[in-house]
Amino acid sequence: MKLILLGAPGAGKGTQAEFISKRLNIPTISTGNMLRAAVQNGTPVGLRAKAFMDAGGLVPDEVIIGIVQERLAQPDCAGGYILDGVPRTIAQAQALEDAGISFDAVLSLEISDETIVERMSGRRSCPDCGATYHIASAPPKEQGRCDKCGAQLLQRGDDKPETVLSRLKVYHEQTEPLKDFYARRGILKPADNQDTIEETTKVVFAALGI
Ligand code: AMP
Repeated sequence: MKLILLGAPGAGKGTQAEFISKRLNIPTISTGNMLRAAVQNGTPVGLRAKAFMDAGGLVPDEVIIGIVQERLAQPDCAGGYILDGVPRTIAQAQALEDAGISFDAVLSLEISDETIVERMSGRRSCPDCGATYHIASAPPKEQGRCDKCGAQLLQRGDDKPETVLSRLKVYHEQTEPLKDFYARRGILKPADNQDTIEETTKVVFAALGI
């Protein structure tokens, strides 16, 4: 199964991707995680991406298209994958289509801007393995420490309130039109955010029929 997870920043794409990944035994490809690793390692892609990310804007399409195509060519993607955070513009979606990559479903996580702003202020991420937590709704077992790898959790620079607002604006202007793009191809599956992660997972699985 080849899936795209669409949704505003902070909608819970990463969290739901983990559950789908386990259920279907396919990898999650997160461009956000790949870019953060590139920034941390000081690679040419990281050096190019950093300023756009810090400002809450989008990294140029050609950079994204390059890293995604390279990643999808890896052997672990042969049996399917979940794209988390990509495509984010019509140009990226078109580039994937032009490369002959088609999808079985595009799951759109629907959530209000107000809930996002509330949620992002409590989000904490692991700089080493990319796992995400929330100080109130999904805390780690030990405060400030990643359950999976033990690293110290951080608030992502781009989860700060002013950056969240610009990321939401970018989402509505540049990413939301993708819903229409995929609806016209008959593969858009909307799923409404619920009060808990577990309830949202049920709605997501139902929308995907898995
Ligand atoms: P995310 O973790 O998906 O919220 O991504 C964090 C940041 O990485 C975004 O705010 C963008 O600056 C950049 N980014 C991630 N994926 C993409 C993409 N597909 N296109 C452009 N920029 C991206």
